[in-house]
Parts: sequence; structure tokens; C-alpha cells
Amino acid sequence: MPETPCEPRLKAPSGAVYLEPVEPGLTAEGYVQMLDLAKKRGYTFSTFAEVADASKQIFLRHDLDMSLDVGLRLAELEAREKARSTYFVLLTSPLYNPFSASSRQTLRKIRDLGHDVGLHFDPMVHKVEGKSELFASLDQEVNQLSMVLGEPVRFISFHQPSPWVLGEDIVGDNYESVYNSRFISKMRYISDSTGRWRAESIFELLERDSESHIQFLSHPGLWLSGSGKSLNDRIWHLVDEKQRSIPSQFEEAINSAGRGLTLFDPSHISLRTRNS
Ligand SMILES: [Zn+2]
Repeated sequence: MPETPCEPRLKAPSGAVYLEPVEPGLTAEGYVQMLDLAKKRGYTFSTFAEVADASKQIFLRHDLDMSLDVGLRLAELEAREKARSTYFVLLTSPLYNPFSASSRQTLRKIRDLGHDVGLHFDPMVHKVEGKSELFASLDQEVNQLSMVLGEPVRFISFHQPSPWVLGEDIVGDNYESVYNSRFISKMRYISDSTGRWRAESIFELLERDSESHIQFLSHPGLWLSGSGKSLNDRIWHLVDEKQRSIPSQFEEAINSAGRGLTLFDPSHISLRTRNS
């Protein structure tokens, strides 16, 4: 997500960055404009399995740090605009559970819209300190997500990796990292992390039209979280959305056996006493 950058832990953003205005154009309308610009420049929207040297390709990548639902909203927008991308899912998020029935449905919908789904892996959760530990935890999570999706996960991205994790290419038995050199140094990599562009914006990059292959990491929650000025405002928008979804999550929990129970808002219930 914009607010917790998936960038390597090279330089931690200061707290103040959350109160600064995000860059202009980071809205749903701006995202559509970005897609239009990519189309105008002749880019094909590709998934990571489709790298072709001869083509002009853009690899749209989304790391879902906070919400699967906001990911689905962007997946729908992209499908309407005839764009394809790859959504990377955390198994260890404190904010969503990819194993729940509703999450499985959400992930299926994202796949059915023509997008790919990969694993977003947080090495810190596993307290990984070496390569063998890294691969053991990766294998485990890749297998678990493959079971949820009903097909093999082929690509992974890292959530806030330590620099050593990115020191060399990560290639497992059936998967590889999109931070590997063929996706980073052989392509132009650009990210919207923390709502700030580095050297130039994706709009400027596409306008300049000098790259044959681009990997663009963007965070759906940043582009689809209202019009708040700062990251802080946009996070609060997501917090409000989350809060509104909590009753239905409780209903899902109590209705797992199909008992048809509905949760009522206590402020709208007047209990009758025996004598009334
Ligand atoms: Zn992340």
C-alpha cells in the first residue's frame, strides 16, 4: 500500500511523509489516464510470465498490503479499460485473511477478470535470517496460496525486504521473484510508494516514451482512497471503509454453518419488556 512501502528497507520514510500532500494525479481518474497514455504509446499490458524482448510491454504490479477489496476494485477498473496486471497477496496481513470464504471469492474474481495473482511475502514475519530459512518459508507460503487459488503461484514480491534478500536472484522450484534482475535491471522499474515519485512520475515516463519494458508497482489503496490530500487522509478513508465492513465480517463468521443469522445495529433495536 502507499502507506507501508514495499520498497527495500534502505531508507525508512519519516513520519512527516504521511502528512505531506501526495503527488497530483493519484486518483481513479488519474489511473485511467495513465492506462490511456500507455495504450497511446503502444504498450502491451503483460503479466510476468509473458516477457518478450521484441514487444513493448508494461507490467502493472500491485502489492496488496491492506485490502483485497480495494484490489478487486482496481482489477475491475483495469478490466473495463482492457488492461491486465498482477496482484500480490499477503498471507500474513494483520488486516485481511486470504483463506476466508469471501477472500477466496475476491481472489477468484480478480483471476476471472484476466489478471494474475502472486504471493506478497513478508520476511520479517518469519524472522528469516538466511537463504535456507527464506526458501523454506517461501515454499510454504507459495504452496498455501496455490491451494487457495487452485493453481500454481509463479511469481512473488517482497514486502519491505532487507537489502540482503534482494542481493541475488530468488528462484524457487516453481516460482521466482519479480525483484530478480530480469524484471528490475533489464526493465525500467518505477513505484508510487508513499505517494511520492522518485526521479519522475509514471505519467512523465510514459510521455517520454523511451523505455521498451516497464515494471510499475502501484498500490490500489492510494489511487482508490478518495481525494484526501495526504497519505494520512487516504489511510483514514481506508480505515472508515474497513470499519463499515466489520459487521458483515462478523455475520460471515457466525453464518459459516449457513444458519442465516443477521446482525442488527443495537441502536435501531428497541427491546420490549414483558409487560409492555
Ligand atoms: Zn508490501
